[in-house]
Order: sequence, then structure tokens, then C-alpha cells
Amino acid sequence: MSTTVQAALKADVTSTPRLVAALIGRPSRSQTVFIECPSYCTEPHGSEPEIAVEDISHASEMFGVQVPTMFDPNSVALELFARVYADPAHEDERMRDAHILVGDGSAEDAHLTPATADELVSELRAFTAQLGNAIQVARRANGSQAVAA
Ligand SMILES: [Zn+2]
Repeated sequence: MSTTVQAALKADVTSTPRLVAALIGRPSRSQTVFIECPSYCTEPHGSEPEIAVEDISHASEMFGVQVPTMFDPNSVALELFARVYADPAHEDERMRDAHILVGDGSAEDAHLTPATADELVSELRAFTAQLGNAIQVARRANGSQAVAA
């Protein structure tokens, strides 16, 4: 059974950034500065220091799905997570705008524009429909009459 890890993105997101406190510097010489932070961001800027303001990125809560395997119900065979993300000082201007970060726990994450993420949503909907069909095929092949919606 797949598990939805978290699906608690803020519903009150606006395009107007907030001013929030951010801790900048090394632990022995840190100072608090105020930065613009998008309303979707849940990063602990005020308690987890960055060396420089340019190192600050913004991210929403992460949400995702985990896929266990019948061979080991205590482990996760696959996982996929996503969050809204922006890195305002990144050299690549595409990273500066809010976009969707999708990761699977590997070293490389996928960064999607909202338009590209829309395409992914369509592909995932088609995947879930085909997954539903595969479930029906497996049940019938096993002789089960129980059909779940
Ligand atoms: Zn932020």
C-alpha cells in the first residue's frame, strides 16, 4: 500500500513576500538580518544559520508518496517527494523563481516550472489509471471476485 507522507501545503499563499528574521554568519559571529521570504516558505531562517544571505533558499513543506514492497513491509522500495522551492541568489535565473522540486532520494533532484509540473501531473494521472487497471488484472488473474473502486 502506498503512503502519502505529507500533504500540507499552505493554502494562504500570496505573491507578497514577508519580512522574516534570518540568522547569518558563523556560530560564534552570527547576526540576525531581515529578509524577504515567500509566504509558502517553511524554512527555519531564524534558527538555522547560513554563512551568507546568498546561501538562503526558500522551500515549502515537503509532501510525497512511499511505495513499500510485499517482500519487506518495514521498508520503502520507492519514494517520490516534492516541494515548492526557490533559490533567490542562484546563478541560474530559472532557480530564482518559485518552482517545483521533485526528488526520489537520489543525488539529483528534478526542478520543474509550473507548466512542466502540470505535464507531470497529467502523466501521473494516466499512471494511476493504468495502475488501477493493473490491480484489476492481477485480481482477476488470481481468481479474486473482489473489485475495488
Ligand atoms: Zn524562506
